[in-house]
Amino acid sequence: MTRFGRKAARKIGLIGYPLSHSLSPTFQQAALDYYGFRVTYEKWEVAPGQISEAITMLKSPDCLGANVTIPHKEAIVPHLDAIDDFARKIGAVNTVRNNGGRLEGFNTDGVGFRRALEDDACFDPEGKRVVILGAGGGARAVAATLLDAGAAEVVIFNRRYERAASLVTSLLSAGLRGAVRAAQMDRTSLRKMLAKVDLLVNTTPVGMKNGPAPDQSPIPDDLVPASALIFDLVYNPPVTRLLAIAGSKGAQTLNGLPMLVYQGAAAFELWTGEKAPLGLMLERARLALLGRI
Ligand code: NAP
Repeated sequence: MTRFGRKAARKIGLIGYPLSHSLSPTFQQAALDYYGFRVTYEKWEVAPGQISEAITMLKSPDCLGANVTIPHKEAIVPHLDAIDDFARKIGAVNTVRNNGGRLEGFNTDGVGFRRALEDDACFDPEGKRVVILGAGGGARAVAATLLDAGAAEVVIFNRRYERAASLVTSLLSAGLRGAVRAAQMDRTSLRKMLAKVDLLVNTTPVGMKNGPAPDQSPIPDDLVPASALIFDLVYNPPVTRLLAIAGSKGAQTLNGLPMLVYQGAAAFELWTGEKAPLGLMLERARLALLGRI
């Protein structure tokens, strides 16, 4: 059941900074057009520290909601009237729904990550040993999802150890249970853990086009495990150095594009009440990534 009439023009925002490389406008607009909604998906570039500017726009009666991305996922939380359980556990919101002037926050990154694991890699996290590289917003959603799914062991490596340790503390104090710990990002610790891992997830931007270390891998090539699933949250380029090395060793690999589209599809369903046209969204995201649209 659609939550809004089809006649009046509406809008949905993408709140972040910068937004020039985002694929979301392309695949979200395609999904809205598929249903013939008079809804425009707009980029709202909001500078760091200026999130309150976006709140007024979000509360406008013609606004259905927004996606929220770096650097506002945590800063937006105090401005919302309610947040769902998963967003509360990880302290970050990536989707806002305007429900008659009441702003409701959700985090669909976990749903997107889990669906990509299951649908695109046939991987069930229950009982599995996992290494996560990075300890930022993406790592938080990934770790919480894996603990919720019953992973046997989750080890978080970050270049700044204290941030990984503080992520572990905040996951446990949010009520998540399971064997989760931080580890020093040194060769010995990495080699020991990676020798017996089932899933390696890169949540750092290392390898990302236009990122801090394009064409590089977050771990030395010789430590990339050959018998694990290697999941890189980076989707541009589609094959990062990490995935190329993993693929050359025969490992199963997955990039971040399905997760990006699945988290967007979950947001679409929250705003519109309609089933997301997933095939169309994936196709548009792939074409946009290749620069063909
Ligand atoms: P974030 O909160 O800024 O965290 C970045 C993490 O990467 C931090 O732990 C940081 O370490 C580490 N890092 C940054 N630069 C590094 C470098 N040069 N070498 C080693 N470590 C480095 O970012 P985020 O929101 O988690 O996003 C991280 C990446 O995941 C981005 O590429 C983003 O596009 C991607 N992502 C994709 C999806 C998807 O749907 N596919 C969803 C979420 C995120 P320090 O703590 O030491 O600074």
